[in-house]
Amino acid sequence: MSRIVFVNGSYVPEGEAKISVFDRGFIFGDGIYEVTAVVGGRLVDFDSHMERLDRSLREVRIARPASTDALRAMHMELVKKNSLKEGWIYMQVTRGAADRDFKFPEGVAPTLIAFTKAGALVDNPNAVSGVKVVTVPDIRWLRRDIKTVMLLGPVLGKQEAHEKGAFEAWMVEDGKVTEGTSSNAYIVKDGKVITRGLSNRILAGCTRKALMRLAQEHKVTIEERLFTPEEAYAADEAFLTSATTFVMPIVEIDGKRIGGGQPGPVARALRTYYLDEVAKG
Ligand code: PMP
Repeated sequence: MSRIVFVNGSYVPEGEAKISVFDRGFIFGDGIYEVTAVVGGRLVDFDSHMERLDRSLREVRIARPASTDALRAMHMELVKKNSLKEGWIYMQVTRGAADRDFKFPEGVAPTLIAFTKAGALVDNPNAVSGVKVVTVPDIRWLRRDIKTVMLLGPVLGKQEAHEKGAFEAWMVEDGKVTEGTSSNAYIVKDGKVITRGLSNRILAGCTRKALMRLAQEHKVTIEERLFTPEEAYAADEAFLTSATTFVMPIVEIDGKRIGGGQPGPVARALRTYYLDEVAKG
């Protein structure tokens, strides 16, 4: 079925959508994106995504293409036009189209596009079985706090994971896990959740932010600190978070079984808390 996508103010069938070959997102990776989950036709954690979008745009000095209210209305229109019940919406803002030149073009409007993707997020069989992860070197640039479309490092990492039969790759820098190629990384030891603290080295996940709040509400201790792959191999549990996987239990890292190869109780509880909140809307 052909989707209706959003391109610079118009809703058009995906086969008719057009972007300039000179678009700086395409030429330089000069753009920012956000991915928002949709459950029951409603947007999940939308305000967090808009806050992060604002921050990313500010950091790379791209003008905001529309107000938060206009962007929310555009997301809801895409949900409606595509009869989207469950899945996600991808939105991208680039510095616009101009003759190729590294420095910023003058008087060029940003390009804004968005599209939907349908898929089961709540009843995801991966969450029942748990997923496998492999570690790869973190070869990305040093501003991973900016959600840029410049994603070749994560693309190579995810492909390596796929070729090794894993769902995700955890990236490692200076012997410590930074994050997944498209998710934040956690281990659990003696009932305590351990995850890397926020800095320029990782993306501040919107799901991570929600998880921190839920953990506090439910008296689950979260310790923000670095951890090594070896510590992860010896953990009681491991899991990852992202807008499209929510809380996803991990049962194997680099071929080593975690927590007896079953999703652990802390990860399962945190997923339930998150889903309960999503269901409330
Ligand atoms: N880290 C990276 C590198 C990511 O690409 C993502 C997914 N956008 C995340 C973490 C998780 O962020 P969120 O929970 O906002 O999806």
